[in-house]
Amino acid sequence: MLKPSDLAYVPFVSVENMLRIVNTIGPGAMMAELAQYIEADFKRWESFDKTPRVASHSPEGVIELMPTSDGETYGFKYVNGHPANMARGFQTVTAFGVLARVDTGYPVLLTEMTILTALRTAAMSALAAKYLAPKGARKMAMIGNGAQCEFQALAFREMLGIDTVSLYDIDPAATEKCARNLDGMGLNVITCTSAEEAMTGAQILTTCTADKQYATILTDNMVGAGVHINAIGGDCPGKTELAPAILQRADIFVEYPEQTRIEGEIQQLDPDHPVTELWQVMTGAAPGRRDEKQITLFDSVGFAVEDFSALRYLRDQLDRTGHFEMLDMIADPDDPRDLFGMVRRAAG
Ligand code: NAD
Repeated sequence: MLKPSDLAYVPFVSVENMLRIVNTIGPGAMMAELAQYIEADFKRWESFDKTPRVASHSPEGVIELMPTSDGETYGFKYVNGHPANMARGFQTVTAFGVLARVDTGYPVLLTEMTILTALRTAAMSALAAKYLAPKGARKMAMIGNGAQCEFQALAFREMLGIDTVSLYDIDPAATEKCARNLDGMGLNVITCTSAEEAMTGAQILTTCTADKQYATILTDNMVGAGVHINAIGGDCPGKTELAPAILQRADIFVEYPEQTRIEGEIQQLDPDHPVTELWQVMTGAAPGRRDEKQITLFDSVGFAVEDFSALRYLRDQLDRTGHFEMLDMIADPDDPRDLFGMVRRAAG
């Protein structure tokens, strides 16, 4: 039987506690476990409320709300994307999120999601690649070595058995930072001075740059037959990474077409250009990779269901790790109608 006192305090995961949780479980293991939650939720895709995220754009960036519900639990994430932040010493992407019960509407989890977003984005990338990357892929090129980069590399090591990662960024300091962080993490790390050099011999190409414009990180002649492209950074109207000719040659896989057509690489294509929804690949309703010559593209933008899965996963780790605190977040007087009485009693 539900007691109001069970609901008034809300578990809160601070940045400090998130760092403890990640280091207790281990980043690679955590992303692999999180990917299982995402896969389970994608396989029950039709049970979710779905809507493209609500975006508030400005010349500097975007602030977005990403809600969804499966009828029992509701979740949302607040996230920003500000490419110019990095030069000012701030994160490009920061986030926090909430999980709530649908039956009472009371929140059951409040958490930082900047780190959790990097984990879930990498888990989602590796999960998509599990269905799309060429068999036996061992080398991944990472173009853009910012905040997301190491998470991506580790998720691909953990879930796909990638053993070599080649790094390129227009800023060599970012590449050095990434190589330093990946040292001793079970990957052969190669630092490169051009995107072409990084891509040589790679079966998986990850683009993870941040620029608020139609950028061309990969040109058509850089992409050979049979590769898998994991395109992370094109995730806003007017912000893309791939030359349109690549999109014409690739089989394109997306999270939620209604959102990806606004925000993804495919905003550069006709609105009816065929794409495959990843949940259908996961349920077996649509094929993933069909042959060795095919170019597959995961046009990643990040969808609310992935954050819901991440929040659900995190909630299930609270008892396992003990790394959370309880927040006095819900005003919940014994007599629900006596809210003002609560104010008076507090006055003394
Ligand atoms: P970041 O600012 O920390 O890093 C971006 C890096 O890209 C920087 O090191 C920058 O020097 C580099 N870069 C910029 N232009 C480049 C170019 N032409 N060639 C090579 N490198 C270049 O950003 P981040 O947090 O790592 O995020 C990367 C991108 O991923 C952002 O655009 C962000 O919006 C996006 N993102 C997508 C998802 C998703 O689910 N798809 C989730 C999180 C972030």
